Amino acid sequence: NTQDVKVLLLENINVTGQDILRQQGYQVEALKSSLPEDQLIEKIKDVHVIGIRSKTKLTAKVLEHAKNLIVIGCFCIGTNQVDLTAAANAGIAVFNSPFSNSRSVAELVISEIIALARQLADRSMELHKGIWNKVSAGCWEVRGKTLGIVGYGHIGNQLSVLAEAMGMSVIYYDVVNLMSMGTAKQVPTLKALLEGADFVTLHVPEIPETQNMISTEQFGYMRKGSYLINASRGTVVDIPALVEAMRSGKIAGAAIDVYPNEPAGNGDYFNKELNTWAEDLRSLKNLILTPHIGGSTEEAQSAIGVEVADALAKYVNEGSTVGAVNMPEVNLRSLTADEPNHVRIIYIHKNVPGVLRRVNEVLGEHNVDKQMTDSRGDVAYLMADISNVNQRDIASLYNSLEDLGSRVRTRVLY
Ligand code: NAD
Repeated sequence: NTQDVKVLLLENINVTGQDILRQQGYQVEALKSSLPEDQLIEKIKDVHVIGIRSKTKLTAKVLEHAKNLIVIGCFCIGTNQVDLTAAANAGIAVFNSPFSNSRSVAELVISEIIALARQLADRSMELHKGIWNKVSAGCWEVRGKTLGIVGYGHIGNQLSVLAEAMGMSVIYYDVVNLMSMGTAKQVPTLKALLEGADFVTLHVPEIPETQNMISTEQFGYMRKGSYLINASRGTVVDIPALVEAMRSGKIAGAAIDVYPNEPAGNGDYFNKELNTWAEDLRSLKNLILTPHIGGSTEEAQSAIGVEVADALAKYVNEGSTVGAVNMPEVNLRSLTADEPNHVRIIYIHKNVPGVLRRVNEVLGEHNVDKQMTDSRGDVAYLMADISNVNQRDIASLYNSLEDLGSRVRTRVLY
């Protein structure tokens, strides 16, 4: 029953998300801040759904107390603040919002392309200090220049369209063969991209293969006087190598939004205690430094609210794990009103040999319309729609499944 679903939202979740959950009929309590661990443990005992952002730590210890919790919504991109394995082992799905801010990042990069070409940040800093320094040497239009996009995913794609609208040519490099937007061209190697671009912008994930992907060798391939933009992850660029390439004049400017170590909060210092080269960066000209704001816009916050709240409601009401970060993705089409006397069984279980046979023995006594199972690591997720069942059948199904040794969690929906 949707009225019985208790939702706790912490850290000032966007109203777009709160509204979606309230419209479902759930009991929603929304707090402005995070909670200290002892209060969190007290509160989490009761709730079925929790929504957090990056400050609330859902450790194995906290989750142990979350006896009723079925799902966690991270209303942000990262999920490091949640012990994903402990959650999966307890049958708790975790959702986040990886792509709601793609457009915001792409727009920031567009602004940086022009700002670097015109040395905008330096002129502004000078005039803030009272210095009038009108220069045209080394300042360029972007029309007719080539943008090289490394990683042509959600952000790379958006950027491709925007850059062409400004009259730039676009080339891109990706490990996957992709369909080009507009007249963009995929190139076969990173080297080809670096050699062919006036502006290089990075939009790859943080994985071992992308660690220091741009280092001394790669700066060597780049055009003299070209520019580098990194709004992906801090580990992708070897920063001492960038400092070197900028000091030598090979790279005419750069914009950096992400760093290997980032300060924990606003007001904290960005200095050598955090990263040995922080002060080198701060001393360089035509280098735009921003505090990881690529995705920080009102629009992205509201889109995150919608995306995560929709995923939570779909999980609570229908059991769909599409987009979950710690469970296999399982989904069946929703039941319709002309399918009365149906139930949907969700059976989250340990991924051990022989379980499915025993589960199917239980289900097989009824009319199974459709069924899907998948596993991820130690946890497997089964969804089955069963027709022509009455209340007694439902109770007996539930109890039989709960009695199996492999059970993590059983849910009966509709
Ligand atoms: P995405 O998953 O949609 O796209 C990534 C692309 O990179 C994919 O097409 C993939 O095939 C490609 N790729 C993977 N490994 C590669 C490699 N070794 N060489 C070349 N291409 C490779 O991701 P996205 O949403 O576009 O995000 C891109 C990056 O931006 C991520 O690192 C993400 O964390 C970061 N990001 C930063 C901010 C910010 O605030 N600065 C905000 C959102 C996302």
